[in-house]
Amino acid sequence: MKFFKVEMIFKIGMALCSLIEAVVGMEKDVIVIGGGCAGMVAALEGREEGAEVVILNRGPIGLGTNSALSNATFSGPTMHYAPEKYVEDTLQIGKGINRELLVRLMAKEASLGFSLLRSLDLKLVELSDGYYVKSTRPDLIPGITLVRALAGEIGKVSGIEVLTGLYVTGILKDAEKVYGVRGFDRKGEEVFIYAPAVVLATGGAGAIYLRNDNQKSIMGQGYYLAAKTGLELWDIEFVQFYPLVIAQPGLPSLLLYPPYPQEARLINAAEEDVLEKHGLGDPNKAHVTERDRFSAILFQEGLKGPLCMDYRTVPTSRWKRHPLSLLTRMKFDFQREPFAVSPAAHFFMGGVRIDENGQTSVPGLFACGEVAWGLHGANRKSGNALMECFVFGRIAGRSAAQCALNRRISLPKLKESSKDFSYHSGSSRETLRGLRRRIREIAWTCAGVVRSEKGLREGLAKVAESEIELKGVAPQTVHDKRLKEDLMGAAFVLKAVLTASLSRKESRGSFVREDFPRQDDLNSRINSCLAYNWEEDRLSIRYHPAG
Ligand SMILES: Cc1cc2nc3c(=O)[nH]c(=O)nc-3n(C[C@H](O)[C@H](O)[C@H](O)COP(=O)(O)OP(=O)(O)OC[C@H]3O[C@@H](n4cnc5c(N)ncnc54)[C@H](O)[C@@H]3O)c2cc1C
Repeated sequence: MKFFKVEMIFKIGMALCSLIEAVVGMEKDVIVIGGGCAGMVAALEGREEGAEVVILNRGPIGLGTNSALSNATFSGPTMHYAPEKYVEDTLQIGKGINRELLVRLMAKEASLGFSLLRSLDLKLVELSDGYYVKSTRPDLIPGITLVRALAGEIGKVSGIEVLTGLYVTGILKDAEKVYGVRGFDRKGEEVFIYAPAVVLATGGAGAIYLRNDNQKSIMGQGYYLAAKTGLELWDIEFVQFYPLVIAQPGLPSLLLYPPYPQEARLINAAEEDVLEKHGLGDPNKAHVTERDRFSAILFQEGLKGPLCMDYRTVPTSRWKRHPLSLLTRMKFDFQREPFAVSPAAHFFMGGVRIDENGQTSVPGLFACGEVAWGLHGANRKSGNALMECFVFGRIAGRSAAQCALNRRISLPKLKESSKDFSYHSGSSRETLRGLRRRIREIAWTCAGVVRSEKGLREGLAKVAESEIELKGVAPQTVHDKRLKEDLMGAAFVLKAVLTASLSRKESRGSFVREDFPRQDDLNSRINSCLAYNWEEDRLSIRYHPAG
């Protein structure tokens, strides 16, 4: 590990305050937080522009990310899919509250994103609205092939350093601009890294929900970091739920990867055929064109009893091919037994506002990928998240590099306040695990697929109680310290989702209120904007006309 840890020099006479002097930490031009597709693309492009870059990720880059779980489907204009049609489709799925500026920019820059994808020596297969990456093995999730290729590129480039096992807890900012980050390493020791430009590529927050198909650590740390830095969160109430995720006890809650076999039957507790009962037809079509309705129907059906997918009549020969081959690796006989499925949290449409250069409202701070807001509106077109990582990762990486090279910081004799990181005795693990379960349950029952005023208010009261308990937990190990940080972020994001959901009095796209079941274009074609007052620990909301 090649980064410097902060040396703590306690000065005589400074015992009264807990200020320590941060002797020089690592200095770079650009810091990228997050090693998923967005972060890796930003790093490669920032380096192309001439910057010295460091990627910070809590786990291994590539593999430990949501990008690795993806189906590696990219949507964007091609020779056979006109830019105007792409814009129209994206806006239509976003139900008119996307930022059109970003949608049009994406259409314009998609060819550059696709060029980068092609340069990665991957096998691309053309779709009617984009491409997908063919997995190197039928029993491998396609996203793994994708992230391995990107991580391989990073490994070849000098000038990009990768620090794994580093958890970022704060963005350093003076009155005008950012100048680095702080965090802690595998040993729990505090680390400061300095740069004139920082790219937030921290992904979404799906794993704050009891049912989700994300990596288990994706709990909205980026939104929390952004809010602590003074950024507002936009449209954070819009969470996409994927209709079909494995919910069989003992199995990982993995997305049931499409395409679904024609023989598949989806059965409810009353043994009715759910697709037939609700006129959903072919699940391959429904999960793309009616994802909101499909998820909401399955959620309501699931309240009455378990939902089961039955693949028993799928011919044996098909199980060797993707995607069924993925299931053969699990300890369950999918060929002989129906298995439980449920909708689950999949993607966050809301997030941090950026301009055409990927710049946030804080000078020197950029954002890209799932943490950024604007492209998707009320729901996301399938394939647009990875395309967003490539297009906006490229833009943010290049802009951050230009910003850094034009504005080198002269490192001041920095005085960073530091906390006491000695660990406390007593058991924190069980308490934290209990709190994680509780926060996830609150998210699922109160801010899940179908919401109501009563549930949202209950959720806010319950999450406030959990937060008080959480603040009182003294982590005993580095693992617990990470978990506590995760949960502080999760509780914050959940409060934000509940608060914004309570104020939106309509249903639109992925956002369903049972007490306001209609889309209200007259009053609610608006984007919510949530600001966090750190001193008062208070969220306040305002609205902007969409567009
Ligand atoms: C099962 C599944 C299938 C999907 N399939 C598709 C698809 O086919 N097409 C499509 O377009 N989209 C798909 N999506 C969505 C898409 O994969 C994600 O939106 C996208 O990969 C997000 O990329 P990212 O780089 O923004 O974040 P991620 O890939 O999630 O990476 C973010 C990284 O940042 C790290 N991090 C966060 N906070 C910190 C911190 N404070 N300190 C250090 N590290 C931190 C995280 O641990 C993580 O490793 C899918 C999503 C899922 C869950």
